[in-house]
Amino acid sequence: MDDCVFCKIIKGELPSKKYYEDDLMIVIADINPKAAKHYLAIPKKHYRLFTEMTPEDAENLGKCIAKVGELAPSLGLENGYRLIVNQGEDGVQTVPHVHLHLLGGENLRLRRVALDD
Ligand code: AMP
Ligand code: ZN
Repeated sequence: MDDCVFCKIIKGELPSKKYYEDDLMIVIADINPKAAKHYLAIPKKHYRLFTEMTPEDAENLGKCIAKVGELAPSLGLENGYRLIVNQGEDGVQTVPHVHLHLLGGENLRLRRVALDD
């Protein structure tokens, strides 16, 4: 998608702080962090909603989640983390390209994590 900020980051047309990349996904720092550590795991294929996923997209998203688990210690998330996916208008999804928020680096019990403030 030409006007999608995450597609531009994936294509290298916009800068990002990139922590990981493979054929299926990238992991970058969120530009507006809501916890001590806040990453975005972004599948390379552009689609907005889970309802748009093909079976292959679903399989690939599963691989992305497994990779997130594998990468977590090297991202400073060895103590645990929270995954959040915002979907659609009521979910206040601001970038229409499926992505996983990966939050941690502190105990989130003490923090009200509202991604839309
Ligand atoms: P969502 O509201 O779930 O669609 O989340 C979009 C996230 O992308 C927000 O947490 C933004 O801070 C983040 N974001 C937007 N633009 C950039 C960018 N250029 N680089 C890194 N993160 C971004
Ligand atoms: Zn996109």
